[in-house]
Amino acid sequence: MTQSIRNPLTVVKGFLQLYEKDNSFSSNQKCHFNLMVDELNMAEQVISQFLTMAKPDQEQAAEIVDVKDVLRSVTDLLHSYGLLHDNRIELKVTDDCTISANIMELKQLFINIIKNAIEASNYGDLVIVKAEKEKDFVVIKVIDYGKGMSEEEVALLGAPFYSLKSKGTGLGLMICFNIVEKYNGKIGFASSKNQGTTTTIRFSYYDKTKLFR
Ligand code: ADP
Ligand code: MG
Repeated sequence: MTQSIRNPLTVVKGFLQLYEKDNSFSSNQKCHFNLMVDELNMAEQVISQFLTMAKPDQEQAAEIVDVKDVLRSVTDLLHSYGLLHDNRIELKVTDDCTISANIMELKQLFINIIKNAIEASNYGDLVIVKAEKEKDFVVIKVIDYGKGMSEEEVALLGAPFYSLKSKGTGLGLMICFNIVEKYNGKIGFASSKNQGTTTTIRFSYYDKTKLFR
């Protein structure tokens, strides 16, 4: 299923990239090929976001996860893919932030939120990622000092294809909302225009020690 959607796109893109290097085409035509490749890349992004969401055949198993480890591996991953635009990510995570969830889904959730924070920020600005235990909850906050949103914009978050980015898919937050809902968590946004945004996610705390009692 996955391949049957991706292969045709790859083939068409491959030919366009060949034509771009072929001097029998005019530079005007090559400009069109370039645009077509851009559009295909966009289609690929939308499809892969849908595919990661739609896994009807496998119920994602929940496990006991330490949010600290997940956040650390997510920030490492963003570093190694060069997605940080020189932004510094400050991780402030206390011990004992355990929850019950599927690691892959948690990673997807945090990557989407942190990517949005970076994309809203000016080059080089700080993004703070915090997690701490508050009573029976683990509370995760992603704080940026970027472009922020109006109340009207915040109200539209999570709607499919809502994006103010020229190359956005507008699917990231829809997926995040689904994942948070699946684990009966909560997600909220505090934002003000040109000041920045704080995204807060809250999950039930999982008390490991009760396993051994
Ligand atoms: P995408 O990132 O592909 O645009 P998302 O669903 O991840 O799609 O986000 C939807 C929109 O929400 C973004 O285009 C942006 O306008 C807004 N948004 C999300 N997070 C932030 C943030 N931290 N600061 C400002 N705007 C944000
Ligand atoms: Mg996004």
